[in-house]
Amino acid sequence: MRKPKIVILGAGYGGLMTATRLQKAVGMNEVEIQLVNKNDYHYETTWLHEASAGTLHHDRVRYDISSVIDRNKVEFIQGTVVEVNRDEKKVILEEGELPYDYLVVAVGGESETFGIKGLKEYAFSIVNVNSARQIRDHIEYQFATYQAEEDKKEERLTIVVGGAGFTGIEFLGELGNRVPELCKEYDIDPHKVKIICVEAAPTVLPGFDPELVNYAVAQLEKKGVTFMIGTAVKEATETGIIVGKGEDEVEEIKAGTVVWAAGVRGNAIVEKSGFEAMRGRVKVQPDLRAPGHDDVFIIGDSSLVINEEINRPYPPTAQIAMQQGVTVAHNILALIRGKELETFVPDIKGTVCSLGHDDAIGVAFGKKMTGSTASFMKKVIDNRSLYMVGGPSLVLKKGKFNIF
Ligand code: FAD
Ligand code: NAD
Repeated sequence: MRKPKIVILGAGYGGLMTATRLQKAVGMNEVEIQLVNKNDYHYETTWLHEASAGTLHHDRVRYDISSVIDRNKVEFIQGTVVEVNRDEKKVILEEGELPYDYLVVAVGGESETFGIKGLKEYAFSIVNVNSARQIRDHIEYQFATYQAEEDKKEERLTIVVGGAGFTGIEFLGELGNRVPELCKEYDIDPHKVKIICVEAAPTVLPGFDPELVNYAVAQLEKKGVTFMIGTAVKEATETGIIVGKGEDEVEEIKAGTVVWAAGVRGNAIVEKSGFEAMRGRVKVQPDLRAPGHDDVFIIGDSSLVINEEINRPYPPTAQIAMQQGVTVAHNILALIRGKELETFVPDIKGTVCSLGHDDAIGVAFGKKMTGSTASFMKKVIDNRSLYMVGGPSLVLKKGKFNIF
């Protein structure tokens, strides 16, 4: 009898968790599993702000997919997904086609630009290893060029971050540590460097605990960050960014580097494949299947799960993507073995936002924390995510142990 074929698209948090859970749970000849990913490595998206600032080498944030999969049970295919042909139950890759019986779409998210002019052309986004490396190199190039050119253009030393959500704040925390190093390396007076964060909402980290937000703002201001709150990015240009409080109060900030960190949407593949989506995210059924599909699960940043308590979507996080991976592995096997499917219930253990490697804010297990305690907790969370996919050997290889 032909074995049921499970195809998993994306080896990020959700996809890799699904694959590693499935490989533990299936019998040797029970199913065929294929895991497809653009690169032959997985990257920790949650560490990309560090690679982008240059405080952590990009090789530290990635590891070979082959090091965590059991090749007797999972076939890894390096390929780029173009779309899913739902009617013919096959995935179209740039490199060919893959038929499936059960599909897991775990291709992550994309930067949300809200159609703002110039962002795609002139701003960077923290989305993968290559974009992180590009941001790091670009900033360093600006510092090196400033020092080398005769008419020293100070705007080269201005870095604008659009958005003070968790990504923007974590990146600013790293920049605050990196800029003094760059100034030293390139003989630049630190007073000439400007780090500006532009946030449209009336506060930094909208919706987060105000006491922790005040702590974060004070700490980042000490590291040289200037916040422009209640101010929206309106346009990115070749020379900087246009911001405004309303239609009339518009201002241009000349900047050598603009990093757009103001939100994510689902992967374009989802809409291209004809799934009904909101900002690229599919509102999945309680068992994580796409509505109207018995054989397609969608997880991670391309899925949308409603928090019934507040009737709003859960924010797209690695924490949720990994938990979804566990549920999907269970539910696919339940379908194959004719058992009951589980309902996905997120178990939010907390949120910790780093402010550099040595500082953080957070709420974990109902407790608020700041400074070195929160920073320690952040590293525990980072190491735990490695452990859940690759066990102790991955933690030893890639873990963060610079605790104090
Ligand atoms: P990802 O982990 O992004 O993986 C998607 C995978 O799909 C990637 O391997 C990618 O290469 C692959 N892929 C994409 N397109 C294709 C294609 N066309 N073909 C083949 N493969 C493809 N969340 C937290 O819970 N805690 C945090 O501390 C945290 N920190 C963050 C810090 C930063 C700087 C950022 C940007 C995000 C952070 N998040 C955090 C959010 C978290 O990273 C995402 O929610 C999470 O990565 C989503 O997981 P995923 O499995 O959906 O996608
Ligand atoms: P976000 O949506 O959480 O924050 C984006 C911010 O940009 C918001 O504060 C918004 O008001 C602002 N913004 C939107 N349009 C703007 C404009 N035109 N001009 C200026 N500001 C504008 O996005 P994010 O920070 O990229 O986070 C994405 C997801 O990843 C979230 O779910 C977040 O929880 C998660 N994440 C978690 C962590 C963590 O747990 N430590 C870290 C990073 C990201």
